[in-house]
Amino acid sequence: MSDPLPLFFALTGACFGSLTAAMAWRLPRGVTVWGRSACPSCGHVLGPLDLIPLLSWLLLRGRCRHCHTPVSAAYPLIEGGTALFWTLCALLLPDPVLALTVSLLGTCLLFLALVDARWRYLPDAGVLLVALLALVPGRMDVIDSLSGGLTFGFLALGVRWLVGRHLGREALGLGDVKLMAAAGLWLGPFGLPPFLILSGLTGIGQVLLLRAAGRQTSDGVPFGPALSLSLLACVLLPIP
Ligand SMILES: [Zn+2]
Repeated sequence: MSDPLPLFFALTGACFGSLTAAMAWRLPRGVTVWGRSACPSCGHVLGPLDLIPLLSWLLLRGRCRHCHTPVSAAYPLIEGGTALFWTLCALLLPDPVLALTVSLLGTCLLFLALVDARWRYLPDAGVLLVALLALVPGRMDVIDSLSGGLTFGFLALGVRWLVGRHLGREALGLGDVKLMAAAGLWLGPFGLPPFLILSGLTGIGQVLLLRAAGRQTSDGVPFGPALSLSLLACVLLPIP
């Protein structure tokens, strides 16, 4: 019998993608995260058939069943992308516990990037989950992990303080500082140079892309998406 793990990861990933999209919509709007999902246009509570990741959107052709208002294609994209990421983790990472931990990390980082890109803040709950996942036993020596967290966190705090004091503006938000400390827990102190280089390059790429799309960047851009992408790359790629 072929290995059922990738299929299990694909289905679980699609459900987590759906949850991520819902949380990224609800949390910043102050909508309870426990209530049942409803159509934002007509308020109809969605039934089980409306909530199947990917399939519901495809079968209903991207519209609400009741009021026929278009439902953003971001939902199936997030669900499909998360399912694909979880499947790749199951196929490429040698240990199922590591595959699950990295899958959950990627999902948390996607959530943080989505919220920061739209609302310009990083929810503490998401950052805390990233930090807790770093401490899953057997992944990295706990002393290395903690010293990484302290190094990254204090460096970020120092940059924030220095730029604030001498240039009078905010280089890093407090959410960015916390996410960098969580990244340090994942990467250890020696993971700092590649992470900083990647974050800087990704941040510059993000600014160039936004400018090319005609978007205003003079009042700064959210750094969470660049930090999230860089952390995931450093965890997955064999960077020395
Ligand atoms: Zn509706």
